[in-house]
Amino acid sequence: MTEADPLRLLAVHAHPDDESSKGAATMAKYVAEGVRVMVATCTGGERGSVLNPALDRPDVWERLPEIRREEMARAREVLGVEQEFLGFVDSGLPEGDPLPPLPEGCFALVPTEEAAAPLVELIRRFKPHVITTYDERGGYPHPDHIKTHEVSVHAFDAAGDPDRYPELGEPWQPLKLYYQMGFTLPRTRALHEAILASGKESPYAEWLENWDPERDMSHRVTTKVPCAEYFAVRDAALIAHATQIDPNGRWFACPLEVQQRIWPTEDYELARSVVDSPVPEDDLFAGVRSEVVVR
Ligand SMILES: [Zn+2]
Repeated sequence: MTEADPLRLLAVHAHPDDESSKGAATMAKYVAEGVRVMVATCTGGERGSVLNPALDRPDVWERLPEIRREEMARAREVLGVEQEFLGFVDSGLPEGDPLPPLPEGCFALVPTEEAAAPLVELIRRFKPHVITTYDERGGYPHPDHIKTHEVSVHAFDAAGDPDRYPELGEPWQPLKLYYQMGFTLPRTRALHEAILASGKESPYAEWLENWDPERDMSHRVTTKVPCAEYFAVRDAALIAHATQIDPNGRWFACPLEVQQRIWPTEDYELARSVVDSPVPEDDLFAGVRSEVVVR
């Protein structure tokens, strides 16, 4: 690795704020090590709501899409990352029984071949060695998160192929693709028990009661990145998304030092690799560093 050609990480996310709640400490850690980190945000979060009671006001609702861009700009600075919007429109989280149809023109309804094009272009321009995204269930079942998974896998495979999207730049093959595995049952249970042991009330009790063990993905974790010293940066980035986060809510209910002690990593599944990188591992660039130097 030379200064002229640093390692590069691309994190693909659905909405502004997702980058700060999933893998943010990992990104801050790699930025501190001199890695270039880019966040691709598929949608503008236009259909999100105001989740911070202190900001649930008509003047905020009126210019929410604009405010979310300002919040994203602040979070980007806190994390020290580069960031681009890919230009799709938030699908919203459909609620009700039966579920209402998705709104016309939204990200989740764009055919994947077309929806992946801006990401292919970004991959060929930014040339990431490693890409992170969500698993096939989206991490949680928001249609934009599932679509984010689909376009990421599609673009990972297509970006290096000269016959696909030939108009979008020179081919570039990323070396590793990861799925975010941050919210697993063992982690939530461990934090829950640590909070109870300290004599406090746990915010996770209800989650744990309703958790279907069948849906737990922890057995798929291959990669645990130690990044506890960057948890405070992650929290500061989350706070920058002021309309999306209740500072008195569940996100911040578990004391930082408990998290650092009980679960000091952010966790991932290595989904694809074109380099030799035996798992388990503790570095998203394992097997990549030597490869990049040799080239
Ligand atoms: Zn989201």
